[in-house]
Amino acid sequence: MTMTHRPGVPKASDGAPREARVEYRLMRNAVVRDVQKGRLGREDVCDAHPELLRAARNVGKPSGERCPICEATDTVEVTYVFGTRLPPGGRCPGTATELDRLRRRSEPVLCYDVEVCPDCAWHHLTRKYPAGGRREGQRAGRAL
Ligand SMILES: [Zn+2]
Repeated sequence: MTMTHRPGVPKASDGAPREARVEYRLMRNAVVRDVQKGRLGREDVCDAHPELLRAARNVGKPSGERCPICEATDTVEVTYVFGTRLPPGGRCPGTATELDRLRRRSEPVLCYDVEVCPDCAWHHLTRKYPAGGRREGQRAGRAL
C-alpha cells in the first residue's frame, strides 16, 4: 500500500502515528488577548469560512461560553473528522449519532473540535484527538 496523502489532509491513514489529544486552549486565549490589546484586529480572527458558519448554525453544540470577541452570543463547537474515505475537507457530522459512528470506525480518524461564533464569525481550533481504529476504550463486545 502506498502512503499517498492529499495536501491539507491530516494523515490519519494506516501507519500514521497515534497522535495524542492536543488542546489549543492556551493558544486560543493568547489570540483573544491579542485582540483585546489591539494587536490583532477583529477582521483577522472573525473570518470563519461560510461552510463553517453554516455548520455552526446547523449542527454546532452550544459551548455554554460567551464569544470572547463580540460578547454578544454564545459560541458553539463544531467537530470535523478526517480519515480515509472521508472528504478531503473533513466530514462534519450532522448528529451526535453520526459523530459517534465516525469515532468508532475500524480505521483511525482524527477529530478536530472548532469553537465558532455564529454571530461575528470568530473561530478557533479547540482540540485535536485521534479516534477509531482501536479496540481499547471500547466496550468489550464480541467481533462477530
Ligand atoms: Zn462573536
